[in-house]
Amino acid sequence: MRFTEFNFRPELLEGIEASNYETATPVQEQVIPSILDGRDIIASAQTGTGKTAAFLLPLMNTLLNKHVDGQVGALIIVPTRELAIQISQHIEGLSYFTHLSSIAIYGGSDAQNFVAEKKALQMGADIIVCTPGRMIAHLNMGYVNFKGLQFLVLDEADRMLDMGFQDDINRIIKALPEKRQNLLFSATMPEKIRQLARKILHNPVEVNIAISRPPEKVVQKAFVVYEPQKLPLIKKLLKETPYKNALIFCSKKQTVKQLRRELKQGGFNIEEIHSDLEQSQRESVLQAFTSGRIPILVATDILSRGIDIDTIDLVINYDVPHDGEDYVHRIGRTARAEADGVAYTIVSEKEQNRFASIEKLIDKEVEKGLIPHELGPAPAYSPRQRSRGNRPKQRFYRSNNNRKK
Ligand code: AMP
Repeated sequence: MRFTEFNFRPELLEGIEASNYETATPVQEQVIPSILDGRDIIASAQTGTGKTAAFLLPLMNTLLNKHVDGQVGALIIVPTRELAIQISQHIEGLSYFTHLSSIAIYGGSDAQNFVAEKKALQMGADIIVCTPGRMIAHLNMGYVNFKGLQFLVLDEADRMLDMGFQDDINRIIKALPEKRQNLLFSATMPEKIRQLARKILHNPVEVNIAISRPPEKVVQKAFVVYEPQKLPLIKKLLKETPYKNALIFCSKKQTVKQLRRELKQGGFNIEEIHSDLEQSQRESVLQAFTSGRIPILVATDILSRGIDIDTIDLVINYDVPHDGEDYVHRIGRTARAEADGVAYTIVSEKEQNRFASIEKLIDKEVEKGLIPHELGPAPAYSPRQRSRGNRPKQRFYRSNNNRKK
């Protein structure tokens, strides 16, 4: 489903486009329409599924339609400072072409920040992302104004309860107006989350994004490179890795076509599959691949789900999939039945953050392969999500006409 089908406001669609999102992930497809309808939500979805944009986009769209100046429109409570920063950066990207303001409020920051936070809580900021402890500190000072609040979001609710934030959350909720829309996201759904949901949510829509994990026997490896090193690296991997059938994935069909051309010129026996081919052409390519006549196939994600070819023993992700589920599906094409399989992912510098969220989703740190020295120096693996103490450049950003096109 494309984002244009949700009827979002044009300035929000611009932010979506600038974030390079094209189609909605499964959790987005399921929760966005219900949130736009004003329903409460309880969703089990993990990091990497696109859950943050799933609640941010409809919430922002509603705040743009029903904007109340000088009020806090949405409160997003999260367990950790890192997550607060990450969500706040997400908001900054998606709301770039709108007049929405936001601030992240979390513990451990300095006195100057406390003043900016106090100002936002008194004067209103459209969206506030906070950790529970810091919000309690502000509530205790008596100036917090939540009169105009429309949304409460609890993100990673199971982690918040595990960290002992139940009482803090209850206290914060007491300070909110009764009439509001509640969105609860949690990776797991133990009974204590259900109890919390019964207390807070009104007739919620329940969404369950069952997350599959890659088969244990797939040997996963990632190669961290600069973009121009991708092509020489894949050639080397295809020459040096033993395989019967190798399946290469690219997110875009232009990349599929270009890569097939380059590899063919490099002497590889390879074919391509993507949506520009007729069904009959796809079938004959697949047939050539399964019979072993063509040992290498390069494809878009149309092949990442469902196809079941026992002889695929090597999968190479030429780019990092946008959706964590796609990664699981892609690498699940190998090691079918009794066979063993190897899955390589080539990660460019700008894909490092995305790969880190996939590692989080599959709950595994994927081994990083050595880059052959003839390819020259390669970048270190240092995704933003890993580094602690990283903050958005601006902590408080108000409406600013210069930002609009
Ligand atoms: P999350 O599960 O919210 O932590 O998101 C995981 C990653 O997916 C983040 O880097 C998002 O920017 C990215 N993302 C979210 N929605 C989409 C989408 N529809 N298309 C592409 N990337 C997305």
